[in-house]
Amino acid sequence: MKIKRYKKVHKHLNFYINNFGFRQPYQILLDGTFCFAALNNKVNIADNIPRYLQGELKLLTTQCAIIEMENLGPKLGGALVILKKFPVHKCGHEGKPVVASKCLLSMLGDINPNHYIIATQDRDLQNNVRNKVGVPLLYLHGKTPVLEQPSEITIEATKSKAEGLNITERQKIEKLKLESGLVEIETKKVKKKKKKGPNPLSCKKKKSKPGVAGKVVKNTEEVKNKRKKIRIPQHVKEILFNKDS
Ligand SMILES: [Zn+2]
Repeated sequence: MKIKRYKKVHKHLNFYINNFGFRQPYQILLDGTFCFAALNNKVNIADNIPRYLQGELKLLTTQCAIIEMENLGPKLGGALVILKKFPVHKCGHEGKPVVASKCLLSMLGDINPNHYIIATQDRDLQNNVRNKVGVPLLYLHGKTPVLEQPSEITIEATKSKAEGLNITERQKIEKLKLESGLVEIETKKVKKKKKKGPNPLSCKKKKSKPGVAGKVVKNTEEVKNKRKKIRIPQHVKEILFNKDS
């Protein structure tokens, strides 16, 4: 590795050590997109990433990230094998998995208390990580690992304590917005499902029977089942099924 690159990564890591209490072994949370890119570029994560970060690491993933890759089918079997090699950290979604990006983001909480470094090629997740204070972002640029420079919001937060508080508040608001956005989306999905219910014409003959309540229950069950499945975001599919990325 070129000395310039080494100095850069050293500087960024020191920033997180001094301002946010990061310590070795650094905990790296990986998702399937990162493993997929590593496989395509013949990057051995367990060898190259510790060498790049010049330190002790714990390479980790979550059950949700694994389930997402499993759902994507046999084409991604190679990346799945790599992902499964890493220890799985509890994410709180056991039994009710969510998409990997949402899962990893939830692992960070408001202030990234576990000092995770996020390793992903998922652009949406990358942007969400940049909007959080004190979360280093790692990705592959071709064969080359890159620890991105601390995001603007992170640098702002460290400038003064008072400002830091404001930024944390802003973070919380952003988080609430995001959450309410997600709630809206889910409500819409549920509404759609209800519209798709049994054809009213076919139910004409069955007049006021207790079956009405039964129907409602059935619908709720359907909705529940639907929501248990993970929907892979389109942009993630694009990353994963586009070999050039
Ligand atoms: Zn999870």
